[in-house]
Amino acid sequence: MIACLRITKMAALMNPKWNGQFSCFDLVAKTDTCSRSVVQVRDIEIGGNDFVVMAGPCAVESESQILQTAAAVAEAGARILRGGAYKPRSSPYAFQGLGVEGLKLLKKAREVTGLAIVTEAMSEEDVDVIAEYTDIVQVGTRSMENYALLEALGECGRPVLLKRGMTATLEELLRSAQVIAMAGNSQIILCERGIRTFETATRNTLDIAAVPVLKTVSHLPVIVDPSHAAGVRSLVPVLSRAAAVVGADGLIVEVHPQPEKALSDGNQSLTFAEFRHMMDDLQPYLDLQHYSRQLGPELLAAGGAD
Ligand code: PEP
Ligand code: MN
Repeated sequence: MIACLRITKMAALMNPKWNGQFSCFDLVAKTDTCSRSVVQVRDIEIGGNDFVVMAGPCAVESESQILQTAAAVAEAGARILRGGAYKPRSSPYAFQGLGVEGLKLLKKAREVTGLAIVTEAMSEEDVDVIAEYTDIVQVGTRSMENYALLEALGECGRPVLLKRGMTATLEELLRSAQVIAMAGNSQIILCERGIRTFETATRNTLDIAAVPVLKTVSHLPVIVDPSHAAGVRSLVPVLSRAAAVVGADGLIVEVHPQPEKALSDGNQSLTFAEFRHMMDDLQPYLDLQHYSRQLGPELLAAGGAD
């Protein structure tokens, strides 16, 4: 009876825009019959049963910085090391990244810790060299509609972490995912990282509803970046818990040995101790996620509204 009521409510509450709105993106849209995609990265499954945490500095700055961070985040339970070697910066005067030198340092960190690597490509010209070193290629918010880059990623042979453009709708995010898939790569992970709104108290506005919506309309895994959403480290743990509860498949979080000395995004980077505490405190929220996963994102969306 309750299940029946839920289904009736779901039909009534599903935004009618969703019916068919995304079906033209046939390679990434969810149909009644298709199963969820699991992206395999070395021995890690993203979109499966595990909640996968990617963590590390905004940018690779030096060998000791990346090796220390890799060891700390691995010990706290992260499975994937993040770190930009090619940095898209809002200011042309800001640190632009170490380039290939940074990629070599990431590779070394992988050898030492066993963590997989995610790093950003900004230009189609860099895709081959980045794919040679990394396990996942990240597309940043400023590049979500760089179609030359997206098409090059179709042939790169690595999974792609596609971040939502800061002013992009979910439809536009899925359109970019479809471009990558049409170019030959269906190994795609979507990332909600906050969007630009009229609010200025946080760097961006975390669109938490994007997670259950994307998981309802697409079969791709969805992760959350609380660091770029918040812009301040104090909000990162609570946004991470929210992401866990609404059914995200994982997180990508900025962590730095000395955030006050970071060359980029220090304000939003956690210290090692803060990251460890955040990871230790996540479990009850992951237990709630198991409950929401049994319901499925559609029923989660329907059950709470009235
Ligand atoms: C980053 O991950 O450091 C980054 C620049 O992210 P975004 O593209 O989401 O701003
Ligand atoms: Mn950053």
